[in-house]
Amino acid sequence: MELRVTSGWRSADEQRQVVRDTITRYGSEQEAHRWVLPPEHSAHVQGLAVDVGPTEGAYWLDEHGAQFGLCRTYDNEVWHFEPVIDPGGTCPARHPDSTWGW
Ligand SMILES: [Zn+2]
Repeated sequence: MELRVTSGWRSADEQRQVVRDTITRYGSEQEAHRWVLPPEHSAHVQGLAVDVGPTEGAYWLDEHGAQFGLCRTYDNEVWHFEPVIDPGGTCPARHPDSTWGW
């Protein structure tokens, strides 16, 4: 099983670029907002999020992350984890997507 960090901390400028790139990729702000947050709400900008891969590794972390305090926080992002609990705790309910932050 392979598990790699594909993204971690981002500056606010980098996050703004990710937002622009995501809008370009999806061709609509409304769809892009399901997948990316503005800098003021992004856990990546706070240094409190990691994206992992490949998909098999992400599924492993979804199953075992709670013992390290890491939880998948979005239904639509199997790769995105945040340290939102104490190690060994129970992960909270996930957001459906990132539209809450816009
Ligand atoms: Zn992420």
